[in-house]
Amino acid sequence: MADERERYLRQQIELGGSEVVLSVAGRRISGEAGRQDLDGGALATESVQVREETSPLSRVPTSRPSWRKGAPPIPGPGLAVESPGHGLDDELVALETLDAVAERIRTTYCSTLCPTRINAVPGEGNPQAKLFLVGEGPGATEDAQGRPFVGQAGNLLNGILEAIELPRDSVYITNIVKCRPPQNRKPLPDEIAACIPYLHRQLEIIRPKVILCLGSTSAEAMLGVRKSLGELRGKVHTYNGIPLVVTYHPAALLRNPNWKKPTWDDVRIARQLLDC
Ligand code: URA
Repeated sequence: MADERERYLRQQIELGGSEVVLSVAGRRISGEAGRQDLDGGALATESVQVREETSPLSRVPTSRPSWRKGAPPIPGPGLAVESPGHGLDDELVALETLDAVAERIRTTYCSTLCPTRINAVPGEGNPQAKLFLVGEGPGATEDAQGRPFVGQAGNLLNGILEAIELPRDSVYITNIVKCRPPQNRKPLPDEIAACIPYLHRQLEIIRPKVILCLGSTSAEAMLGVRKSLGELRGKVHTYNGIPLVVTYHPAALLRNPNWKKPTWDDVRIARQLLDC
């Protein structure tokens, strides 16, 4: 019975009308319901309180997500870049799905990193993702599994995403280079240049609302500049018109927990941009 009432009320909330509060099994559900339905229907019981005044549904108090509390204001603009010098060849442009791009990555050797890989790591996530995350390159666990950010840094990243109410499967996660650099060294400029067209094609297919660069290697490669993380953080850059925010790499946070607070701020800036 309680379920039935709740379903009914939810329907009425969607339809709009007078504001009501319904208590079902100790839970309060508030919203709007048509007065006629309330007077004559199953909801006209002591468990439904009809308030005298009417108010739009938007004014019904809803709980504020906790990540918003103390979130920094969105900072001013930084660099604006347009696909800096990474021309896509016609074959890549012809690939219309993320799966097709992934298949190309898995079956092609494009740089000196490819022959030593166990698996290529094209990226994974929601094809309709609003948030697109870019790391540096696969580590040992990612190389073994063919998936991005599945090691310790990945666990931390998953926690950060949960904290801004974006579960991992709602975003897209990839790296600048899709094959593991030996001993996890930084990818070299020619390795980045060979691999980055895949990233650009992934971006063209997904068309996310916001890009979040994890670490300076990713940010420098995307923005086509040589700058420190300190110089790149705290601004909203744009990449082909898409807002791009830079933060610390999760692996860096494991080494230095003092960077967790600034990362939390950066991530909440990116999260707010999604709502703009
Ligand atoms: N570090 C990265 O930059 N990418 C991964 O996928 C894993 C660790």
